[in-house]
Amino acid sequence: MPERCRCWDNGNLAGVYISFPFCSQKCTFCNFASGVFSRGLEERYLRALRAEAARFAWKWLPETVYLGGGTPSRLSGDDLAELLALVPGRPWREATIEAAPGSITPEKARAWAAAGVNRVSLGVQSFVSAELAGTGRKHTAEVVAREVGILRDAGIENFNIDLIAGLPGQTPASWRESLEWLQRLAAPHVSVYMLEVDEDSRLGAEILKGGARYGAARVPAEDEIVELYEIAVDRLEAMGVSQYEISNFARPGRRSLHNLKYWKLEPYAGFGADAHSFDGAVRRQNAETPEEYVERMERGEAPCIAETPARLAEEKFILGLRLREGIRPSPEEWLTFAAPIARLTEAGLLETADGALRLTRRGILLSNEVFQDFIS
Ligand code: SF4
Repeated sequence: MPERCRCWDNGNLAGVYISFPFCSQKCTFCNFASGVFSRGLEERYLRALRAEAARFAWKWLPETVYLGGGTPSRLSGDDLAELLALVPGRPWREATIEAAPGSITPEKARAWAAAGVNRVSLGVQSFVSAELAGTGRKHTAEVVAREVGILRDAGIENFNIDLIAGLPGQTPASWRESLEWLQRLAAPHVSVYMLEVDEDSRLGAEILKGGARYGAARVPAEDEIVELYEIAVDRLEAMGVSQYEISNFARPGRRSLHNLKYWKLEPYAGFGADAHSFDGAVRRQNAETPEEYVERMERGEAPCIAETPARLAEEKFILGLRLREGIRPSPEEWLTFAAPIARLTEAGLLETADGALRLTRRGILLSNEVFQDFIS
């Protein structure tokens, strides 16, 4: 029997990420490498995924598992059980599945619990139907509420709700409506993302070219999106759902143990298309598209297409500073990064307290600029 991994002197344990990039529709705001693919490719992908997990030389027992994508909630109960049976270490401290609201049935929730899942991340994005209209999402607030009840009935008390600040037509008033649903549902964990405007989503591309499709002309201005984010930070705090990372909020004891590994530079193994792995020293990335991933696996090749040594000193600042608690630089790191720390502290973007370094509230809003300063 392999032992639990103790790659770090503080005894942290490893995580497993499984990518399932298949969706029923491509949402207009989504810039992930996910989408609608043929049923045939989905079947070949599942075979490849099982082969990759089965072939993995487990030298440790994972503490957390995260099924993301994509929409892994599309997997049948049997397919999910077969996949998770390849991951040792059950019962995991945390095993999350990402789910699209509107597809959760009591049978599905029971199958997830039976397969070892104990946390569900719901891609709600908004509780306001007028905001969801045209994004590709078909659920309503009532559907989400019913499905949260189904999860609880199946014994899955721990769930996350994703929200996006900046959807077309969103206003502070409609945003508050979504936030009130979090209170009504007693959400243990909430992720708030600001709409990303880039070429990788249909909505982003439309905004960039000044068009009006997908509601692009009704997307709030950048400063309005920042205001929505700040409203969320304050409202969630008042509900007892405290910010612990730039985009993540939780009630006591409900922080995402898996995602914390990314920010704390703890090891994890990734399986599937575009999955990343980190063993404490080297970062690896699998083939990006499901087609390329499947073809490599079917040819008997390794799915990994890139392998780079981690830049641990810089990454500690770039990833660790995302956490509200910040980081505790070593004496050497204080010296190495003395110049950016002084500059950013002077600018009111970083603060120090009891040997820790963390972003100020203004620093959170300008975090990308802060992180740039730590990249040599
Ligand atoms: S937002 Fe989620 S469900 Fe929509 S396309 Fe992206 S991954 Fe799929």
